[in-house]
Amino acid sequence: MSTESRVILVTGGSGLVGQAIKTVINEEKSQNNENSKHETWIFCGSKDGDLRDKAQTDALFERHQPTHVIHLAAMVGGLFHNMAHNLDFFRENMAINDNVLNASYKHKVKKVVSCLSTCIFPDKTTYPIDETMVHNGPPHSSNFGYSYAKRMIDVLNRGYHETYGCTFTSVVPCNVFGPHDNFSVQAGHVVPALIRRMDDAVQTGDHQFCVLGSGRPLRQFIYSLDLARLFVWVLRNYDSVEPIILSVDEEDEVPISTVAEMIKKAHGFSGEIVYDTTKADGQYKKTASNKKLRSLYKDFKFTPFETAIHDTVAWYKQNREHARL
Ligand code: NAP
Ligand code: GDP
Repeated sequence: MSTESRVILVTGGSGLVGQAIKTVINEEKSQNNENSKHETWIFCGSKDGDLRDKAQTDALFERHQPTHVIHLAAMVGGLFHNMAHNLDFFRENMAINDNVLNASYKHKVKKVVSCLSTCIFPDKTTYPIDETMVHNGPPHSSNFGYSYAKRMIDVLNRGYHETYGCTFTSVVPCNVFGPHDNFSVQAGHVVPALIRRMDDAVQTGDHQFCVLGSGRPLRQFIYSLDLARLFVWVLRNYDSVEPIILSVDEEDEVPISTVAEMIKKAHGFSGEIVYDTTKADGQYKKTASNKKLRSLYKDFKFTPFETAIHDTVAWYKQNREHARL
């Protein structure tokens, strides 16, 4: 473990994953953990600089002089938000990623860990998906803008490595959820959208709750605090430019209907769940292998899905006044 002092800039530090990393680092600091003693962590949101803008991005790097970067900032959203804004997802994320990686190169940042997603993999593929398959075929049409922009991070990482020897790498999380998520009905991912809508249903005394689509698609979900611990581990221990999948096991994949039932239990909602099959299902599944992670970090324990859902529902109930809606 390095004892040289590090300044770690987290772009997207105000979001779901950024806030989880902040929680984990604060925990480490309160326990006087050796690693974090030499680290200064800076968490930035869009109010600290619009990373779509090159000059603002350079100014942010000039201000903080990071030695390391965790790059999370992105236009992010659930299936329905992606379907409605594919062009914006592509253009905004391409601009953010180009600006952040170029500023990292110019400021001689020693390591950048950027964030891809398992939803950027080819739609027509064999399973399980692994790290070698990022560019193998077209992504699902519902989120082609987000997917191609994310894939270009891997292209930039390889280019900066080949041309300048930079250690710019990426992680590939499965679906993430937890405290500080975006609980917007229109823009949110399935877990926060269902938590928020079911909370509304409980409050208005509804007898029925509608899940969008058939409920059959399969997803792997990682709790944001688990992902945060893995992100910090990658920053400190993983030095390859090749992406690494950060996901729960393949056996932990669940249908959307199970997610809805667990959220129902956590909310204590007593009504009936119905499915609106006129709404999109999106990609049927994107089952990813975490074999590489398991081979490098053997004893990592994921929070059980039900516990994480329970804790996220409890967080939402306590924080709904200032949650992102
Ligand atoms: P999030 O909660 O929506 O947070 C997005 C972050 O990006 C916020 O801090 C936001 O700042 C910042 N941001 C957005 N546009 C910006 C801009 N133009 N300039 C500067 N900052 C900007 O998203 P998240 O779920 O934490 O996602 C973090 C990373 O994980 C993203 O790269 C995402 O693609 C990836 N990922 C997410 C999931 C998932 O299920 N959520 C799954 C796989 C991968 P403000 O809030 O201050 O505006
Ligand atoms: P994805 O995993 O990238 O496809 O994105 P999401 O997190 O938005 O999950 C989409 C899946 O959840 C699809 O199968 C949707 O049909 C289903 N789903 C059910 N209800 C909702 C909802 O209220 N919001 C969202 N975003 N998805 C929903």
